[in-house]
Amino acid sequence: MSDDVLKRITGSFFNTEISVAADCEPDILAQIPALCGEYEALLSKTVPGSDVWRINHAGGGRVSLSGHTIGVLKLALDMFRESGGLFNIAIGAAVRLWRFGLTDAERRIPDPEALARAISLADCGRIRLDETGVTVPSGMEIDLGGIAKGYIADQLGNFLRKRGVKSALINLGGNILTIGGKPDGSDWSIGLQLPVLDRKRREEFWGVLPSRDNAVVTSGSYERGFLLNGIWYHHILDPRSGMPSGNGVLSVTVCAPTAFLADALSTPLFLLGPEKGVTLAEKYRVFAVYYMEDQRVLCCNGAGFSDDGVVFFPARDNKREVKTY
Ligand code: ADP
Ligand code: MG
Repeated sequence: MSDDVLKRITGSFFNTEISVAADCEPDILAQIPALCGEYEALLSKTVPGSDVWRINHAGGGRVSLSGHTIGVLKLALDMFRESGGLFNIAIGAAVRLWRFGLTDAERRIPDPEALARAISLADCGRIRLDETGVTVPSGMEIDLGGIAKGYIADQLGNFLRKRGVKSALINLGGNILTIGGKPDGSDWSIGLQLPVLDRKRREEFWGVLPSRDNAVVTSGSYERGFLLNGIWYHHILDPRSGMPSGNGVLSVTVCAPTAFLADALSTPLFLLGPEKGVTLAEKYRVFAVYYMEDQRVLCCNGAGFSDDGVVFFPARDNKREVKTY
């Protein structure tokens, strides 16, 4: 059996491109866009009436939430603590000021005073989460862009598994979840894009990760941002300054059993950098590979290289190994 049996669907959701390839009846795949729309209508901050929209417009009052949103908020707050405050979902107002979604002509560096005000509101420690809802201070804006796509990828995976799908690859803008292997029984191959601004050169993969029933998620500075006066401003912000994080990391790829965990860790690992990030990767027993500005590649938790430059991840119980080249 070859990959020809795979059916594919693509679309634009969650502010990115999505694709799902699966060995299944077309009518199963045809339900994916509606499902994406449902999760977007829950977790997107820009869809009026979504859970996140209601939190951001509650003026300090308590908001009842769906179990999905509660689950995402719980792990997001864990990551706030695990990253010493660097992963901060209360950073929404600062993200909004950067206007990364707009066209080149409209792009500019936010006014420093407005940015300082936005950052002063981003006190994640003041989010009060209970079993069925949340209370956040008036003015605070929640942004789940660093964690929601992984959660949704897992939900799409569960949807397909429940319908008997044994072979699929779900890709929500670089948040990848695989179900089983390829239809021919071999592993899926996930190409690791060169973290460069030139889109054409990205397809020169610097590594390939085999994947079977797990998730591969990359957080990078190269994908979303803008060039102004020769400086690249990207979308992962240091919550202490509101400016793009500048710690020498170009990308970090995380390999974990679920896309939720991989996405939840990818942004804090990016912000922490490899020296501190390795402790977090070890704690959650995930594999992580950093690609640094100076071209070094640093691997945490058993990731290594074969001679031809292909990244591989040895068995889970292997000892951590940090390699440099
Ligand atoms: P992507 O969304 O491109 O897959 P990430 O998972 O790394 O990449 O998430 C980046 C997104 O996280 C940003 O677009 C923004 O919405 C949000 N974000 C930016 N800075 C932070 C931060 N310090 N803490 C939490 N979320 C952040
Ligand atoms: Mg992330």
